[in-house]
Amino acid sequence: MIRANDNYSKLQASYLFSDIAKKVNDYQLKNPEAHIIRLGIGDVTRALAPEVIKGFHDGVNEMANDATFRGYGPEQGYAFLRETIAKNDFQDRGADILPDEIFVSDGAKCDTGNFQELFAKDIKVAIPDPVYPAYLDTNVMAGRTGEFEKGRYSGIIYMDCLKENNFLPKLPEEQVDLIYLCFPNNPTGSTATKEELTLWVEYAKKNQALILFDAAYEAFIRDEALPRTIYEIEGAREVAVEFRSFSKTAGFTGTRCGFTVVPKNCMIFNSKGEKTSLHAMWNRRHTTKFNGVSYPVQKAAQAVYSQEGKAQVQEQISYYLNNADIIRKTIETLGLDYVGGKNSPYIWIDGSGMDSWKFFDLLLTKASVVCTPGAGFGRCGNNYIRLSAFNSLDNVTLAMERLKKALALKSRVTNRSGLTNRSHVK
Ligand code: PLP
Repeated sequence: MIRANDNYSKLQASYLFSDIAKKVNDYQLKNPEAHIIRLGIGDVTRALAPEVIKGFHDGVNEMANDATFRGYGPEQGYAFLRETIAKNDFQDRGADILPDEIFVSDGAKCDTGNFQELFAKDIKVAIPDPVYPAYLDTNVMAGRTGEFEKGRYSGIIYMDCLKENNFLPKLPEEQVDLIYLCFPNNPTGSTATKEELTLWVEYAKKNQALILFDAAYEAFIRDEALPRTIYEIEGAREVAVEFRSFSKTAGFTGTRCGFTVVPKNCMIFNSKGEKTSLHAMWNRRHTTKFNGVSYPVQKAAQAVYSQEGKAQVQEQISYYLNNADIIRKTIETLGLDYVGGKNSPYIWIDGSGMDSWKFFDLLLTKASVVCTPGAGFGRCGNNYIRLSAFNSLDNVTLAMERLKKALALKSRVTNRSGLTNRSHVK
């Protein structure tokens, strides 16, 4: 009898984006004249940069000619791209990463989800709350958790990220084996300093643990003091894997390209306690289950690093960061607490006790603005919403004008809903 992986039945159905879509559709049907502005989903809105399109076209043109046509490429990525990444993203920043430590893939979602396959089933896994859901769900699928009760899976060590700890996970009190970190963070937009990351690297070394570091949003870091890669931290090569994506960096959400860095001296332990090369294991997994990113897409990714490509991509990121600034300043004017919006496209807003779906409804019905309710990212998101800077400047400006009117009015009229602003809570 063909039997199912019962772990799948433990998964909580993710209705987040379908519930949002339903509410938005219902609202639009009742208010056909309403111009709804979507600041919910973390998807980019601007076209690929001209230099990237040129790289893409060049790749396609090569495929159209027998003399330059390419069939299967190396599963780990073409040398031209791995070398370009190693130099620009790491070596130029003083991080000692070699091209053959880079595994090109079709994006960070697959890699962050698949990487846990390399570890034993009974390891202790620490995951932040709120969190990008792929880390948690893939560990559930693999059978590393018990059932879901009161908003949490048993067997996972949740690291609460709340105002009290500046939205940064605290070092676990118990010994853990695998730690997921993401900076700049989705959904909170928080960032970590070198000193803060150093504590994690030291913890991992001391406990023979491994850090899975998701740096999908590193391109949004403008503060030079902040680390752009965990390999800027001494010793990180031995205890950390880093995930990167061209999705938010260069608008590749629909084009698909990312990469994972697995340093050669990063070791894990087999059941006899002997050191095992993580690089060799991931190489085996990648070459067995993945057949490489298409050649034109890798050419497009390489173009991100040309002089013109860099300038064009930077301009796009500056555009989104300017939107984030406008959102941040509006939220400040309204007296609400928030985090993020600097060095990040996300702003995580405190509803002062208001349930995140109520906050969502308020913004939708009073301002025709769509946000993401924080509850979709974990229990610690229950009283927060996420606004995203991925939209046009005109839409963001208009959305913020509406928010000012809707929320200022709301807080003048009543606080009973739970939405209090700083001027009220003093
Ligand atoms: N990691 C984080 C934290 C993300 O927010 C996302 C996408 O939203 C991803 C990974 C997935 O990126 P990709 O498009 O490369 O699969």
